[in-house]
Amino acid sequence: MAEASYSQIMIGRAMTGVIGLQEIIAALHQDGMTPDDPALGVQLLSEFSKRNYVPPTARAAYEEALRREYRRYVEAQRTGQTGRLWRDARKEHRPWFPTLFEPKCDGCGKCLDVCPNGVLGWNADETKVLVLEPYECAPACQRCAQACPLGAIVMPPMAVLHVRTDSPERPSTSDCATCGSKDCVARKA
Ligand code: SF4
Ligand code: SF4
Repeated sequence: MAEASYSQIMIGRAMTGVIGLQEIIAALHQDGMTPDDPALGVQLLSEFSKRNYVPPTARAAYEEALRREYRRYVEAQRTGQTGRLWRDARKEHRPWFPTLFEPKCDGCGKCLDVCPNGVLGWNADETKVLVLEPYECAPACQRCAQACPLGAIVMPPMAVLHVRTDSPERPSTSDCATCGSKDCVARKA
């Protein structure tokens, strides 16, 4: 039996590891389910909970996240794009991504316009921006924080980019855990 997929998705305000989601989504898509189908949420949750624990009090958050992932998948199929990239697994250990102070956000969308990596997205009623793909954030980038007129976005200090993330089993090939780009200002900090 083939091993089930593993991925991490934002559920509520936490990145959460999930099993078998890619297969569930692909199967529903093959059956012709559209992202706006009223039955989609129930079917996603039903299949998902066969392999993953869904806290009873968080069912709405799970359903919202699963629907978002489904829409993303369908859009990627339609446009021929690959969807999520996650180029380097070590990014999961590198805390470089924006933190959003939701009460300050007025939903102007300026941060969304400048992010090249699709890190940010809307909440369900599109009144607030959320951090949905933290691992896609580009090391040393601060565009969204600089674009926010209300100071609702905070980036970590540059020093976190110097923290090595290599394990003894995976020796470092560089002296820095950053992207290594010539544009990385952390190297100059
Ligand atoms: S720092 Fe850059 S890559 Fe990261 S979320 Fe903001 S605009 Fe996107
Ligand atoms: S730029 Fe700031 S206020 Fe505007 S949507 Fe983004 S976080 Fe909210």
